[in-house]
Amino acid sequence: MTVETDVVIVGAGIAGLVVALEAVTAGARATVVESDDQIGGMLRRGRIAGVDIDLGAESFAKRTDAVPRLIADFALPLEVVAPRSGPAHLVSQHGVGLPGARWSRLPLPRRTVIGIPADPLAPDVVAIVGDRAAERAAAEVLDAPVDPTASLADVVEERLGEGLLRDLVDPLCRSIYSQPAAAVPLPRLHPKMWEAFERTGSLLAAAAEVAPNAPGGTAVGGIAGGMWRLADAVARVAAERGAVIRTGTAVGRVDPASGPGVAVTLADGETIRADHVVIATGPRGAANLLGRDSRAIDAGATAPIQPAVRLLTAAVTSDDLSAEPVGSGVIVAPGTCTAAKALTHIDAKWAWAREALPEGTHLVRLSARADDTAGLDSAAAVAREISHLTGTRVDRGDIGEVITTRWRDAVVPAESDSWTATVMDAAARGIHVTGAVAAGTGLASVIPHARALAHELFAVPSVRKES
Ligand SMILES: Cc1cc2nc3c(=O)[nH]c(=O)nc-3n(C[C@H](O)[C@H](O)[C@H](O)COP(=O)(O)OP(=O)(O)OC[C@H]3O[C@@H](n4cnc5c(N)ncnc54)[C@H](O)[C@@H]3O)c2cc1C
Repeated sequence: MTVETDVVIVGAGIAGLVVALEAVTAGARATVVESDDQIGGMLRRGRIAGVDIDLGAESFAKRTDAVPRLIADFALPLEVVAPRSGPAHLVSQHGVGLPGARWSRLPLPRRTVIGIPADPLAPDVVAIVGDRAAERAAAEVLDAPVDPTASLADVVEERLGEGLLRDLVDPLCRSIYSQPAAAVPLPRLHPKMWEAFERTGSLLAAAAEVAPNAPGGTAVGGIAGGMWRLADAVARVAAERGAVIRTGTAVGRVDPASGPGVAVTLADGETIRADHVVIATGPRGAANLLGRDSRAIDAGATAPIQPAVRLLTAAVTSDDLSAEPVGSGVIVAPGTCTAAKALTHIDAKWAWAREALPEGTHLVRLSARADDTAGLDSAAAVAREISHLTGTRVDRGDIGEVITTRWRDAVVPAESDSWTATVMDAAARGIHVTGAVAAGTGLASVIPHARALAHELFAVPSVRKES
């Protein structure tokens, strides 16, 4: 059977759903096909200790106004909220393997962009990187070439020094973008910071312009009740306006149709013919559907791309955690001997979670590399890790329910030239790519890219007045 429509969107993550919403709002017929049983992709709902929470993205960066603008433009019934806690902390181990090796657990500095400080001599920066590295960073090398293809690590090391890169920029880059600073150029990570850097010729001046004045790690926004609600609300409005959203059905092939348009073949053999196809699947799916190996996307980064991410979300009964010892959570510096690479104290961070939980019950999320099986496979290990990272005492008996989530497509490689050529060639045939694979990781990038693509395809005016 062949069905006809104006656009087929492959993948009901936030990118695909936003394209669908824009398409139907512009009067086009849109069908979204999602392989999973639920919509949302990395905006996924879980339930623990009787509370609905996020098992994927749990906040959005404020480097763009993408999320509040989407909510306002489509009058989505969602409340944007700010984190409630003090700064997140950076846990580092100094002198690993040497006598006198020590741990530090320090608040993240207030005014930084991916760890690049507005003032390298600010006490909260010096506490982490030390006097020498702070003084080196303050003496920024201003006459180095400005190269948009250089990695963030190369730019920071050359201008601000190795110490700042190692102790602050790289840990934050890994934490925010799931990639080492050596793997990706600044323009792709943070276009606004790059624009300010190009204009001023100084990383410090750019950070002074762009850095938020908020406790470290809290310059993000959230949605009351969880970010999964954003995907839910977009899907609901898109469906109300006529989008067809099919779950539990994978798209197997996308080919030129025998007449005009593109033929989309579902795993069950059904075909949908459309004028446009938008692939919003994540890197692996996009590479498969465009007939490439997923490694073809990778620009041959100078550092290995991290493998998939494993999250453990645990309900913990602990009076010590009620004092919120690490604010919204912990980022672990590379090279530190821990099983988890980050910890989020969910109810310290979000008031809606705190209000939903009984007194003394906490929700803690540990993130680890998916291939790192050591260290987090029992309640005792989870308790030990939480104790370790927060500096409090948590015992095995304090750990209640634990949810494990694996994300295979969470890391987006920097695009290779041959991948860019593949994408452009496909676009000429009516097959377009959006989502994190095209825009970079994070809602602040993914949503504007999806909206811009939909505006281009369906001639939506860029400023919309919703009734
Ligand atoms: C643990 C975690 C925490 C994160 N935290 C944050 C955060 O705090 N803030 C932030 O801004 N970003 C965060 N991110 C990143 C952010 O979630 C993603 O960049 C964004 O959600 C990607 O959206 P997407 O629509 O491009 O892809 P996805 O959400 O991956 O959606 C792709 C969809 O396509 C479907 N699909 C794949 N192949 C097929 C096929 N062949 N046929 C049909 N369907 C298919 C998949 O099932 C999936 O539902 C986080 C990500 C993870 C994993």
